[in-house]
Amino acid sequence: AEQASYRAKQMGRNSLCYFDAAHEAAIQARHQLLQALREALQRGEFRLQYQPKVDMGSGQVIGLEALIRWQHPQRGLVPPAEFLPVIEDDALGLEVGDWVLAQALRQLQAWQVQGCALPVSVNIAARHLQAPGFVERLDELLRQHPQVAPALLELEILETGALEDLQAVRQVLSAAQGLGLQFALDDFGTGYSSLAYLKNLPVRTLKIDQGFVRGMAQDPGDRAIVQAVIGLAQAFDREVIAEGVEDRELAALLLAMGCRQGQGYGFARPLPAEQVPGWVRHFEGAWRPLVAPPPPHDGGRPHPALGTPGWALS
Ligand code: C2E
Ligand code: MG
Ligand code: MG
Repeated sequence: AEQASYRAKQMGRNSLCYFDAAHEAAIQARHQLLQALREALQRGEFRLQYQPKVDMGSGQVIGLEALIRWQHPQRGLVPPAEFLPVIEDDALGLEVGDWVLAQALRQLQAWQVQGCALPVSVNIAARHLQAPGFVERLDELLRQHPQVAPALLELEILETGALEDLQAVRQVLSAAQGLGLQFALDDFGTGYSSLAYLKNLPVRTLKIDQGFVRGMAQDPGDRAIVQAVIGLAQAFDREVIAEGVEDRELAALLLAMGCRQGQGYGFARPLPAEQVPGWVRHFEGAWRPLVAPPPPHDGGRPHPALGTPGWALS
């Protein structure tokens, strides 16, 4: 009764609230998870895995994306979708974001020593990017890892819809660019103001959202969006990478449409750091070129790959 009357007061005058046991249970569960996540950070239970990015024309590995997991003592490896939403509005979200940056830099440094210096991209929540002191902390972290060339670190900007003040974000990115970093707009095509960001922000790369890429084989609407994003990248002189490339057919189709860079289960799932150097050697050694479809006859269509699925692969 007390909780219901508290909520009614919160909602303003003349409100009527019933105590809802399910709602209460959900709030409790969230609190417990948040507390468990605080302890997980202290105990060092977070891990980064690394998913390779590939030049689909040459078969060269061109970089890695760092993806967080929670190594839970009982539940095993917990994916980010199960815990990031709980921390994103809490100060813990910023702490975990800083941990991810620091861990990626430590790993870059370790690979550098082993002679495997591939660029690494790190996902940055919009709130983290816009938090006070972000660039200063980035600067400090880079100073703590002097062997790592800052150009090897790329930030993938998430939830572009949550970038509130475009001018302020632009200043943050310009300052971080001054430190030598690169940027990508993640899940491009899904944020409601992606085009304004593309025009105004100094990003090097667009990452085509995996929903469009995976849908491309069946859905002409998805194919048209993918083709349009590739065209936008060309028009704005940006790089473009497709995520969610699950097989060689999709890879060949993307290549034929003008997108050389790809990432997805078709090449590799996210890997523990220690498996990366061996995987890179094996993958590059075993690469077979993708066979592009024949050139267009009518010349009028956007690209021959559109509407002609199923051509041969080598
Ligand atoms: P994202 O940045 O768009 O990352 C791509 C996600 O798609 C990853 O899921 C990856 O494992 C998955 N993926 C890659 N290739 C394929 C494929 O071919 N098929 C399918 N079905 N999925 C594929 P993951 O690791 O579960 O991450 C989900 C999201 O969580 C990420 O999406 C990103 O938004 C967020 N995230 C992950 N790590 C971090 C982090 O360290 N910090 C922050 N702020 N967000 C993170
Ligand atoms: Mg990403
Ligand atoms: Mg993405």
